Amino acid sequence: MGDVVVIGGGVTGIQAALDLADHGIVVHLIEREPSIGGHMAQLDKTFPTNDCSMCILSPKMLDVSRHPNIRIYTCTEVTGIEGEVGDFRVRIRRNPRYIDEELCNGCGDCIQICPVEVYNRFDAGIGVRKAVYKPHSQAIPDIVIKDTEHCIECGLCYDICGREAIRKEDAPREEEIRAASIIIASGYDVFDAAQKEQFGYLRYPDVITSLEFERMMNASGPTGGSIRRFSDGKIPGHVVFVQCVGSRDIQLSRPYCSGVCCMYAMKNAMLLREKYPDTRVTILYMDIRAYGKGYEEYFERAKAMGVEFLRGMPAEVIANRGGMMIRVENTETGGMEELHPGLVVLSVGLEPAKDASSIAERCGIPVEDTGFFRSLDEKVNTVATIRPGIYIAGTAVSPRDIPDCVAQAQAAAMRAFLDTARDETV
Ligand SMILES: Cc1cc2nc3c(=O)[nH]c(=O)nc-3n(C[C@H](O)[C@H](O)[C@H](O)COP(=O)(O)OP(=O)(O)OC[C@H]3O[C@@H](n4cnc5c(N)ncnc54)[C@H](O)[C@@H]3O)c2cc1C
Repeated sequence: MGDVVVIGGGVTGIQAALDLADHGIVVHLIEREPSIGGHMAQLDKTFPTNDCSMCILSPKMLDVSRHPNIRIYTCTEVTGIEGEVGDFRVRIRRNPRYIDEELCNGCGDCIQICPVEVYNRFDAGIGVRKAVYKPHSQAIPDIVIKDTEHCIECGLCYDICGREAIRKEDAPREEEIRAASIIIASGYDVFDAAQKEQFGYLRYPDVITSLEFERMMNASGPTGGSIRRFSDGKIPGHVVFVQCVGSRDIQLSRPYCSGVCCMYAMKNAMLLREKYPDTRVTILYMDIRAYGKGYEEYFERAKAMGVEFLRGMPAEVIANRGGMMIRVENTETGGMEELHPGLVVLSVGLEPAKDASSIAERCGIPVEDTGFFRSLDEKVNTVATIRPGIYIAGTAVSPRDIPDCVAQAQAAAMRAFLDTARDETV
């Protein structure tokens, strides 16, 4: 039986790895970041059940870390792929953590004592972390990483670490893995809202993105689950969600629908209404796309909870008497509406992961004009690519929600599994 390489440790890669490993296949799970988990680890709740995201994901992450058939490679990138189905040689670069992975027990003493605070990417930029850090409390592997770009070499972490796990020197290591097949699950990035200057992101403190909102809403996030305005720390009296920011936008070369934004905006609007019943919540939209199982009912529930849906897209968010103002044409009534939100949340779309095209190049497979990976056949062979033995799954293929990612991961795992026995069957 050959091994399988899975590139990307989000929910898609995790599910594919678990399915294969449960069938006795050795899986090498390659993750660029210091922890597996991907975007799902950043979310607060998940539609359409509003279950806590980490309550679903964390047990899967733990299963991956304990599975005898799964090897996790974090801080790792694929640098080259050669060979063919049944016998690929995958070259990887393991970037330095400046931590002895065997010695570190993740106690966090070094994090406590580190005096440096920097921008925290896991919190979508709205919180801070230390120069020696864990991406989040449920990180897998449960060990720290030293960020040498910001470390001031004060020496406090070396002194406090009783296990002498923190390294002064470290270097990238090149390795090669042999595998029968490869699954690409490199996921997505969110649209950079600053590109839509008219909405004032990074110009007005109370214009934030949906991912920042998810982190704020999260009890283990930087605000402990409290929704506050950056300008004055107050709870906003009116929150306006603006849909399709970086989706269905031909001028920005993003003609596609991001598939999840209508649903996640409804989710966050409902959570807001539950937590702050006095806060008015309005969603500004072009169309509501609630196509999945139970999704239309979810939409009805949002309306019943007092979430206002106003069909119309604003041209801009403008500063007005120390606050903000949005003028929008209500395309159902034809009338103009004037809103004075305390907080604006931009529902940013999904775009291909930044290095998707370089992975595609290394694998010798095409991406579409949008930058997402191209399936061999859009209808009946969505996980296969033009190269036998290389499969794609999840949001690396196109924007999609978690249930769809999991289903596609399972399909890709099945196809990869068949390749592992190829050398014995031909
Ligand atoms: C604000 C917001 C709210 C959402 N809410 C919901 C919700 O409530 N319910 C729902 O169903 N969906 C929701 N979604 C969508 C959900 O996030 C995705 O469906 C899901 O997380 C995609 O998982 P994935 O594994 O395909 O991708 P990702 O989560 O992006 O994982 C990809 C992984 O691959 C890694 N990677 C990337 N490139 C490389 C490389 N070159 N080498 C190695 N590793 C690499 C990344 O670091 C990452 O860990 C939401 C999305 C957003 C933006």
